[in-house]
Amino acid sequence: MLQNITCNHCEEPESVDHILFHCQYANEVWRYGPWNQSIDTTDASTFFEKLERSWNLTPLPPHGFTGNALPWICWAIWTSRNQRIFENRSQSPEETALKTIQALKAIQALKEWEIPQPPSLKIPKSLTTGQQHDPMVLDPSEIFCNTDASWSHTSKEVGLAWIFTNGSATEIFRGSIKQSAVSSPCMGEAQRREALLQAATNHYSIICIRTDSQVLAQAITSRRKTTELYGILSDIDELAFSSSSPFINCRFTYFSRANNGPPDGLAKACLVA
Ligand SMILES: [Zn+2]
Repeated sequence: MLQNITCNHCEEPESVDHILFHCQYANEVWRYGPWNQSIDTTDASTFFEKLERSWNLTPLPPHGFTGNALPWICWAIWTSRNQRIFENRSQSPEETALKTIQALKAIQALKEWEIPQPPSLKIPKSLTTGQQHDPMVLDPSEIFCNTDASWSHTSKEVGLAWIFTNGSATEIFRGSIKQSAVSSPCMGEAQRREALLQAATNHYSIICIRTDSQVLAQAITSRRKTTELYGILSDIDELAFSSSSPFINCRFTYFSRANNGPPDGLAKACLVA
């Protein structure tokens, strides 16, 4: 937007370098950086030069994470700037920095959690009920579902598509549906719900939903833990994981977008149809 090119904090001309490094606000955020030496925001080096140098900085131990915090702090400064301008919400530099460090700790915890866990001990069949199932054991009758969604910004409609395959990667069913009044952030939720409903209709009892959203796959898995702890069940969690679930076993895995061509095409075709 060229109508107003001044910084919302200090009214100096707003450039990328100004927002991220040279503004007094950014300066203060960097003071809370998790390193023993802070980023020099006064020199004239470019964003990329600072990024390159930042790889040599080591986070101090009490912050509890490894990796490079610079891009995340830049991102936090940028989003706090947008919140201030578009939502009229202001954050102090300290809040911006501390929230970033909290987020980094969460990412670190997630990474640790992702390190493959040893397979759980297999419970003898005689001790299990029909509803129990060891999620580590791949069942030959497991049905795989690839889903994708395509969203139209103008019509607020979403095309949802799913393709079911068996263990030998042979397609056994495909379908798609168009839904209206869906916001972009709710797309994944709608995608997951429809795929599960379709799987239940088809009487697939052992199901693996593949999603090309790594965030979604992780969110479902972590949400599942949360629901078990706090009993907050959405209809989808209920459908997938509760004792009244139509599935003997239901899991969600990440599937690379590069390999998700067929459902992607199906979802797009459904949206324009
Ligand atoms: Zn400024």
